[in-house]
Formats: sequence, C-alpha cells, structure tokens
Amino acid sequence: MPGYSHPCRYCGKLVPPEARVCPFCGKINPVGPLRCPRCRSPIRPDYIVCSSCGLSLRIACPACGEETFFGDYCEKCGKRLVVICPNPKCKTEQPPIGDKCIKCGKPLK
Ligand SMILES: [Zn+2]
Ligand SMILES: [Zn+2]
Ligand SMILES: [Zn+2]
Ligand SMILES: [Zn+2]
Repeated sequence: MPGYSHPCRYCGKLVPPEARVCPFCGKINPVGPLRCPRCRSPIRPDYIVCSSCGLSLRIACPACGEETFFGDYCEKCGKRLVVICPNPKCKTEQPPIGDKCIKCGKPLK
C-alpha cells in the first residue's frame, strides 16, 4: 500500500511507509519487518533464533548487560544494539554478532 502512513513501532506516530528513520523519535527502521542482524531475513520478536541463518536472537545488551531480543534496540534500556569498532581507522558501527569487527577483523573488546 504505497503512500499510506504506518505507526512507528517505538512511538506510535504515523510515519511514511518508506521511512528509514522515524522523524518523531529518531529511531531507525520504524515500520516494516525487523530483520536479522546477520542475514537480513525478516524476524519476529518471539523468535529465539533466526529462521534463515540460525543466529541466536537472544543476546546480552552491550549497554546494560540484560538479555534482550536482537532487534534494532535493547528491550530493557532502549539503547541501539550496535558496537563501534575500537580500531581508530575503522570505527564501523555493527550489530554485536561476534567478537571481531565485520569490516577490519580486529577484536571488538
Ligand atoms: Zn517513532
Ligand atoms: Zn539470519
Ligand atoms: Zn540494554
Ligand atoms: Zn573494524
């Protein structure tokens, strides 16, 4: 249904269907399916692993340490589930999937 507004999954305000960022609350991917951080297949908040690649979708939040669904944001503290590579030449933002940077391969901790 192109052209119809959809409610943002975080703040509930109506945003354009193609919005990549909610203009009201600033969160990414406000509408449309959540996607696996590794293979980008659609996932649901009641999944414990990705149905396509098997990635565990229950992770410890890098910000608060609580277990949360591996969506875009922590269910407990609301922080984005990303880590930034500590390599000063890289600094790639990435989902906390593994121990190594997806770009430069350096350890993330
Ligand atoms: Zn919003
Ligand atoms: Zn996946
Ligand atoms: Zn958290
Ligand atoms: Zn890196």
